[in-house]
Amino acid sequence: MGSGYKIFVGKINYKGWAKNKMIYDTIIIGGGPAGLSSAIYSSRARLNTLIIEKAGCGGLIAMTDFLENYPGFESGINGFELTSKMEQQARNFGTKIVYGEVLSIETKETLKKVILADKTYITKTIIVASGSNFKKLGVRGEVEFIGKGVSYCATCDGPFFKNKEVAVIGGGDSALQEALFLTKFVNKVFLVHRRDKFRATQILQERVLGEPKIEVVFDSIVEEITGSEFVEKVKIKNVKSNMVKEIALNGVFIFIGWTPNTNFLTQNKITLDEKGYIVTDDQMKTSMDGIFACGDVRKKILRQVVTAAGDGAVASISAQKHIESD
Ligand SMILES: Cc1cc2nc3c(=O)[nH]c(=O)nc-3n(C[C@H](O)[C@H](O)[C@H](O)COP(=O)(O)OP(=O)(O)OC[C@H]3O[C@@H](n4cnc5c(N)ncnc54)[C@H](O)[C@@H]3O)c2cc1C
Repeated sequence: MGSGYKIFVGKINYKGWAKNKMIYDTIIIGGGPAGLSSAIYSSRARLNTLIIEKAGCGGLIAMTDFLENYPGFESGINGFELTSKMEQQARNFGTKIVYGEVLSIETKETLKKVILADKTYITKTIIVASGSNFKKLGVRGEVEFIGKGVSYCATCDGPFFKNKEVAVIGGGDSALQEALFLTKFVNKVFLVHRRDKFRATQILQERVLGEPKIEVVFDSIVEEITGSEFVEKVKIKNVKSNMVKEIALNGVFIFIGWTPNTNFLTQNKITLDEKGYIVTDDQMKTSMDGIFACGDVRKKILRQVVTAAGDGAVASISAQKHIESD
């Protein structure tokens, strides 16, 4: 198991497709917590393992200042620090990491081709760990002011708003967590949510409601973001009274949900749910043989680092079993 260099697999001649190419045991698409955990398990089991990551390893949590619910860190840990350790652990066991965006995948008999803009890779199994991305509000001014006051990452951009006023849009864990984080820098946070109560966990709600720098604006949606060079105002509408008001501020941080990163699978017959998340069984198998999925990209009830890491381990074991049975 795990040679990774064979041109012939079983009785099938793959020379045409894989001529002079290394055949990986497993290629992991995405280097967030799910992909890194998969890589640790796969490379420790001596599979020839490659991660392909389009940005930087660490994924979404690497942009988060602080997580306090990952087991083993009783005082919490910075997201980048945690995932840097995961990356180092995967490298220590022999995982290779290359940078580039996977555009599509193809399958032929028992092999799979992973296609980037300027390169292709051949593998026996694929583990999709591509996570999800921020949803956009879709209002006037949002796209125009990205990087000029509109942001999807408080950890990245919060320090630019020292002593300023900002709005955070959303009512889930991410919105409340990031609103609290922003109070370290800003004078005031307007927390705008379209319903009359938050979806976030109780402990975050209690912290937000006890934080004097946060003003909660329930039952309200953003209609427009305006300004000249940078964001200056946000227009919000109360969905119950239909009253529209403008708030003068300097930044708008948007945390309203996620879209799974599954675009590169559109040519394939992998079953997705109605929101585009990959459907797997409890062994992380997708509807395509030899292709597994783990972490936030798959349909599941809890999208967190601890579940991403757990999924990654299971996907790796399933990939190993698949290779052994081939
Ligand atoms: C603001 C915020 C706060 C959070 N706080 C917590 C917390 O306190 N505790 C907690 O447990 N969780 C928290 N989370 C959730 C946590 O970040 C995610 O559950 C976790 O990162 C999921 O890991 P993942 O590996 O599945 O996906 P991701 O972390 O999204 O990683 C996916 C990776 O795949 C890459 N990728 C995507 N498409 C491609 C492609 N086509 N080709 C190559 N690479 C690709 C991406 O660049 C990314 O690096 C938070 C999230 C946010 C946004």
